[in-house]
Amino acid sequence: MSESSVASDLYAVIGHPVAHSRSPAIHTAFATATGQRLHYERRLAPLDGFADTLAEFAREGGRGCNITVPFKFEAFTAAAERSERAELAGAVNTLKREGGRWLADNTDGVGLVRDIVVNAGVPLAGRRVLLLGAGGAAAGVLGPLLAEGPAELVIANRSVDKARALAERHAAVAARHGSALRTALLSAPGAAFDVVLNATASSLGGGAVPVGASVLRPGCLALDLMYGPAARPFLDWAAGQGALGRDGLGMLVEQAAESFAWWRGVRPPTAAVLAALRADIDAGAH
Ligand code: NDP
Repeated sequence: MSESSVASDLYAVIGHPVAHSRSPAIHTAFATATGQRLHYERRLAPLDGFADTLAEFAREGGRGCNITVPFKFEAFTAAAERSERAELAGAVNTLKREGGRWLADNTDGVGLVRDIVVNAGVPLAGRRVLLLGAGGAAAGVLGPLLAEGPAELVIANRSVDKARALAERHAAVAARHGSALRTALLSAPGAAFDVVLNATASSLGGGAVPVGASVLRPGCLALDLMYGPAARPFLDWAAGQGALGRDGLGMLVEQAAESFAWWRGVRPPTAAVLAALRADIDAGAH
């Protein structure tokens, strides 16, 4: 089949595992809301078979795909061209087929920023922000967070050398937006932040909240990138300290909306999709 005959409508999420992914439901809801015709499915790639899976998807006419764990770095390499924010993140979560090549973006950070600034109504400009973690998720969100112009952004991680490497890569962006970018050990992150973002895998692993309550300024936003039942201990901790707790579901929907807008040229409304997804998860449905 030629690439152009079928594929204008074929999209997928590629990962390992991928069965849990909410992306098909989200993109199908976006398509319905915007009147776009597309089919979005899950593709399980073998751990050593991302490149082959992507090539097969292209042969079938795939127009675009989301990339999830553990392939965000391989997707970076597979792309012929990358957006500035993908270059900065060193990882890719969205690919778009154009002219027989894969173009790449990373929409995680802009998705998180939209969820904070638009959905939660919390501005980042001029604020003190604490980013916990220095893994893939932290790398993906740091550039767009700095682009909002926080007064100060501290990256705190168990392995402080990883935080330092991330900060060095983002030094120019921080300077451009007038933000003081610092690093800290997770055990000494500083106190009284306006926004605290948990981008560690602590909730995913069922672990305790990795910092003490002194990081929270009263009434601040405390957001865990995790969502579902695993985020509950973090949300309870935030509420118990008088902070505004938020999980990563809004980020998930907003990063998907950004991918959809890039692929289809139309921005989908997100509020109803987020509400439906939350109700579904709260009901324990799969
Ligand atoms: P990585 O494995 O790349 O990074 C893990 C990070 O967490 C590292 O900084 C690591 O520290 C730290 N860490 C792991 N366990 C603990 C712990 N028990 N206590 C303190 N720090 C810990 O993972 P990702 O960055 O890909 O994912 C991080 C989180 O973000 C996950 O919960 C994931 O579900 C979520 N996520 C949510 C998204 C969304 O759309 N809502 C999108 C992407 C991710 P060290 O370097 O010292 O090992």
